[in-house]
Amino acid sequence: MNYRAPRGTYDILPEDQAYWRFVTEQTRQVCELYGYEQIDVPVFEQTALFERGVGETTDIVEKEMYTFLDRSDESMTLRPEFTAGICRAYAERKLHGRPQPLRLYTIGPAFRYERPQAGRYRQFHQVDVEVLGSQDPAIDLEVMQVAWQIYEAVGIKGLSFQVNSTGCPACRPGYIQTLKSWYEQRLDGICGDCRRRYGQNPLRLLDCKKEACSAMADEAPRIAKSLCNDCDDHFGRLRSYLDALDRPYEVNHRMVRGFDYYTKTVFEVWAEGIGAQNAVCGGGRYDGLIGMVGGPETPAIGFASGIERIILTMKQEGIEPPDTPKPSVFVAYLGAEAKKAAVLLAQELRTAGIRTAALWEDRSLKAQMKQADRLGAGCVLIIGEDEVKDGVVTVRRMADSTQATVPRADVVEAVSGGDAP
Ligand code: ATP
Ligand code: MG
Repeated sequence: MNYRAPRGTYDILPEDQAYWRFVTEQTRQVCELYGYEQIDVPVFEQTALFERGVGETTDIVEKEMYTFLDRSDESMTLRPEFTAGICRAYAERKLHGRPQPLRLYTIGPAFRYERPQAGRYRQFHQVDVEVLGSQDPAIDLEVMQVAWQIYEAVGIKGLSFQVNSTGCPACRPGYIQTLKSWYEQRLDGICGDCRRRYGQNPLRLLDCKKEACSAMADEAPRIAKSLCNDCDDHFGRLRSYLDALDRPYEVNHRMVRGFDYYTKTVFEVWAEGIGAQNAVCGGGRYDGLIGMVGGPETPAIGFASGIERIILTMKQEGIEPPDTPKPSVFVAYLGAEAKKAAVLLAQELRTAGIRTAALWEDRSLKAQMKQADRLGAGCVLIIGEDEVKDGVVTVRRMADSTQATVPRADVVEAVSGGDAP
């Protein structure tokens, strides 16, 4: 039997870890720079949380969730996103009792049953950032800045914001009515999916990617004209901050985002070259969600960014992460007596905090040197029968192939700091 990784999943092999480490470390640093605290929520939750929190008519709930009955016949779902779980935690753990707003971030895997393709997987990873307990548009801007600064920190260029307002329960129904009456005459010109959206989730008519639907959506009435005073004022203030910030942004009236829970601000960050289908992140305000999952009515805003998409963009732009750490020393030996001495030396080096590699396969000195070279070790400590007899170690510096004989008692001291004497 040959086992395979499930479709849409992959292994992050050692040679890819440098990207992952770099992106997650930079992300943590940026989040902490802005004063965000880390939270972790379960990988699975009760299915009803996502049905309610993400929305029954979204693509995610309709066709992308990994849902299963556990052994007590309770329906569980692998998280397709983080916001619902974080809001559940906020309500359940009474995080609203803490000083508000609460600034949170998390990093981890999410699961969606999608058609796998470049940058689209069934198990993927997100950075998720949320601010709970504020409705000030300056918070919207701050969250957008966090996203921007993460991409800047990993070296991605050509960034721009796409922003829109999707209104609120006071003004959105009126806009949806306007939109529906406009589409009513035009149902023949849109795809089957869009005809279904027309009935179930008309806002999604605006972000269909098919050519004919997309051309039609360009002409459709815009939400900006239907916003209530509150939403209009909020969006106006956010735009004035964006103007002051001097970062490229575009008001994209067709951007409504995939979740039902968004209110007011929605945004994406686009990176040049990967285009509209591949926004590196998406987010928005969800002032009604916490109330919906059992907490007090609390305004909030957040975004999620796919780590695979960040790495894909880095690779497309030729951005290389710093190397993962290499061994400082490699311990080589010849003969059984020397092996025992080498085992002890390696132990002593590691206790002293020096990254140490060895082969332990009783191979030739040449083979051991080759392995040291492949691993990128800074120096090789060689112990043969003579060295054991004389109480010394031969230290070979890989950079310039120079060798020195060092008393055994001084070796750890001599190589600490990573360089040979
Ligand atoms: P898309 O339009 O690409 O399907 P989405 O609107 O479903 O994206 P969100 O639910 O907002 O995306 O998720 C936020 C981010 O997570 C996306 O911008 C993307 O970077 C990433 N993402 C979403 N789905 C996947 C996936 N299946 N594989 C890898 N990354 C993903
Ligand atoms: Mg999607």
